[in-house]
Amino acid sequence: MGEERVNLIGLSREELAAEMARMGEKPFRTRQLWHWIYERGAADFAAMTTLAKELRQRLAERFTLARPTVGSHQTSNDGASKWLLEFADGNEAETVYIPEEDRGALCVSSQVGCTLTCSFCHTGTQRLVRNLSAQEIVGQMMLARDAYREWPSSKEGRMISNVVLMGMGEPLYNYDAVAQAVRIFMDGEGLALSRRRITLSTAGVVPMFPRVGEELGVNLAVSLHAPDDATRDVLVPLNRKYPIAQLMEACRAYPGAKNARRITFEYAMLKGINDKPAQARALARLVEGIPAKFNLIPFNPWPGTAYACSPPAVIRRFAGILNDAGFSAPIRVPRGRDIMAACGQLKSASLRRRKSAQGAPS
Ligand code: SAH
Repeated sequence: MGEERVNLIGLSREELAAEMARMGEKPFRTRQLWHWIYERGAADFAAMTTLAKELRQRLAERFTLARPTVGSHQTSNDGASKWLLEFADGNEAETVYIPEEDRGALCVSSQVGCTLTCSFCHTGTQRLVRNLSAQEIVGQMMLARDAYREWPSSKEGRMISNVVLMGMGEPLYNYDAVAQAVRIFMDGEGLALSRRRITLSTAGVVPMFPRVGEELGVNLAVSLHAPDDATRDVLVPLNRKYPIAQLMEACRAYPGAKNARRITFEYAMLKGINDKPAQARALARLVEGIPAKFNLIPFNPWPGTAYACSPPAVIRRFAGILNDAGFSAPIRVPRGRDIMAACGQLKSASLRRRKSAQGAPS
């Protein structure tokens, strides 16, 4: 028999209020519960000491506050951490924590697998795809907060100071659930992450940009990877649907884009493909007029890929050209390589194991 209790994690305030109404509880209960769930991190109704015992019991009969099931949790020797989550239907997704000096980012997945098939990305080779629910997206944050004991939320100097929707999946192909989760992240009476500390990374689902800007106002990261359509068509096939000119237009119009809050253009450095000085100059011309910065990601090779990472000197030269044109272009330091937590490697080892057990190519 399956679990019949409703999990409250990931419900919007309205949905939570509806549950309270169904129980015959007054509207103010919503706020009380919200506080316990997202500000205090209660994983158990018994811990909600401002509620009468009898109410706590009735809540426990109907609801749960269950976190996703963790299949495995690994910590890298550089402090990065990776959780493999197992959902009720047997699907899996990954969450990664990347510590920095005085803060850290949680990299959250929005889908199991991905439909985009970017040619250099490992996730695109995974056949299984489904959207994650708001509950499963928020659950990733709850799990990490539990692990780092970051309750209550209002504490200063958080380890999990930022969240990046940069894990598995294309967040703008799962907009409703992502938006609901982001609103929960931003709620000031709960997890209380400011929109400036949330970054959504997209391969360029252009028609969704206005909504992201107006409804969420989070930072935008765009996976550009090439300055021209011919190259980008191959790397990011979505480019055939929304070519570079349209993408740039959508970026120019992005409401949040001001000088203080620039759009990040992600650029995987692929040897001999997109790393020539002329391409760096073309990039600088391309984004002219957009408050922009670049993030150069040394390509992370995976078994079976035909791509290789550009040599360090080539990457430095590329960065230099962008810098000379007035753009910040840090080279991302790979983190968590020893636990396969790095960009583009988020494909669960257990899936690979299962496939190889079936004799299927990984
Ligand atoms: N669907 C989102 C999130 C993808 S993952 C998007 O497309 O933006 C985050 C970033 O890692 C993207 O820029 C993606 O293109 C990049 N990436 C994927 N595989 C990579 C690899 N093997 N090496 C380097 N970067 C990679």
